[in-house]
Order: sequence, then C-alpha cells, then structure tokens
Amino acid sequence: ALSATNLHKWFGDKEILRGISVDVEKGEHIAIIGPSGSGKSTFIRCLNLLEVPEQGTLDLEGRRVFEASEKNSTSSVRALRKRVGMVFQSFNLFATHTAIENVSLAQRLALGRSKAEATNRSEQLLERVGLKAHMYKHPGQLSGGQQQRVAIARSLALDPEVILFDEPTSAIDPEMRVEVLRVMKELVEEGMTMLTVTHEIQFAKEAADRVMFLADGEVLEDGPAEQILTDPSNERIRRFVNSLS
Ligand code: ATP
Ligand code: MG
Repeated sequence: ALSATNLHKWFGDKEILRGISVDVEKGEHIAIIGPSGSGKSTFIRCLNLLEVPEQGTLDLEGRRVFEASEKNSTSSVRALRKRVGMVFQSFNLFATHTAIENVSLAQRLALGRSKAEATNRSEQLLERVGLKAHMYKHPGQLSGGQQQRVAIARSLALDPEVILFDEPTSAIDPEMRVEVLRVMKELVEEGMTMLTVTHEIQFAKEAADRVMFLADGEVLEDGPAEQILTDPSNERIRRFVNSLS
C-alpha cells in the first residue's frame, strides 16, 4: 500500500533519518520501536509529509506521491495527508468543540462533506469506538482514553488508506489505555493498514505483523513481530525489549 524509499531528514546540521525504507503491504500493521531520539516520530511524520524529507520517495498504491528532488505542490501534499491519517500522542482535539464536532470538522474542510453527511458519519464512528454516550461532550469532559478514541474516529472519518499512530497511549492513564488498544486491535482485524510507534510490547506482540527497530536514524532490524519481540537475535534489541516488558 505504502512504500518509502531511502528517506533522509536533517534538522540543522544533524542527520536524523539516515536512509530509512519501508514497504507496508495492504492490511499490514507494523510496530516501530526504538530508544528515545532514534527518529521514530520523525520517520512516521515523513510518511504523511508533516516533516518533509530532504531525500527519498513515497509511493502509495504503486504511484509516486512524493519525490524529495522534485518540487512538490501544496495540493499534492494535502492530497497525500488525506490518504495517510495520523493519530498523535497528545490527541490534538479542538477544546472548544464537542467530540462530534471534532470528528465532523475535518470531513467538511478536507472532503467537502455536507454538515448532515459529516454528522451522520461522525455518529457512526463515535459509536464504533464506544463513545455514543459522549458525543456531545467537550474534550475537557472526557478521559485521555476517550479523547484518543475521538481522535481515532476523526482520523477514520477521512477514509484513509493508511493510519499512522505516534505513541497513542503514552499520554493516557494505564487503566484507560486498554480501550484505545482494543479499538486499534479491531482496526487491525478489519484490515486497516497501520504503522504504530509504541512502547507497549505486549500490544505489539498481539497486534503487529512486523516490527521495525530504529536506532540512530537507521533500521537496525525489520522482521516478524513474534520473533523480534520474543527472541531477538540482536543484543541491543534484546536489552531494549527486556527493559520494557
Ligand atoms: P521519543 O521516543 O522520545 O519520542 P523519537 O524516536 O520519536 O523519540 P524524534 O522525535 O524523531 O525521536 O527525534 C529524533 C531526533 O531529532 C532527536 O534528537 C530530536 O531532538 C530531533 N528533532 C526532532 N524534531 C526536531 C525539530 N523539529 N527540530 C530539531 N530537532 C528535532
Ligand atoms: Mg517520538
């Protein structure tokens, strides 16, 4: 579904991504793990051009959608962002809008859906993530786990082909995480194509097909989740996984 080839990203004179590639198959869920500062967030932000890599290419469904060496129009960047959704650690909801308004807004702005159409779809999605009873509340009246489920519904509302998650549960109280992880597992089962930066090793074992381990802006290992998380051959990965489990 999504391929990134040889992504390089610099911040100032520091090379943060040093040639990262990935091929995500349709329906695949890849967990991205690695130490703090290894470039995990930068990497997935490059996949929907929230960060623009200085080198490398992106392909969606076999079509070139970004080439660092070319001039990329803002409209092509916007088009890509609709197809590749993102869920952030900090939810990023509008505090002054209700849950259902948060889910509806992007549909109206990005897809031009009518108010009735957007509201209808938002209701369906909020029900699906278990928030039917909370649709008319503002983010401040919701727990972290509920807010994150609103953010997931908002992302789903744009009918993305791929969803990127950046530590979706790390800003949430432990007892509230399970509901978010359950929604994510359901998405995996339904065949959504996903990449998730996470420190939740148990979740990655249960719900990811593949694991990529990033270190110092490079892929140290990329392989089956089960093997990398239960019996990593690389000593550095073994120590990292043990420190989290
Ligand atoms: P964490 O696990 O702490 O979230 P990470 O693996 O997601 O870490 P990144 O956030 O991608 O790491 O950061 C990688 C490196 O890039 C870090 O050294 C960080 O300080 C640097 N960096 C990230 N964003 C910027 C920015 N906008 N400007 C300058 N440096 C940045
Ligand atoms: Mg990060």
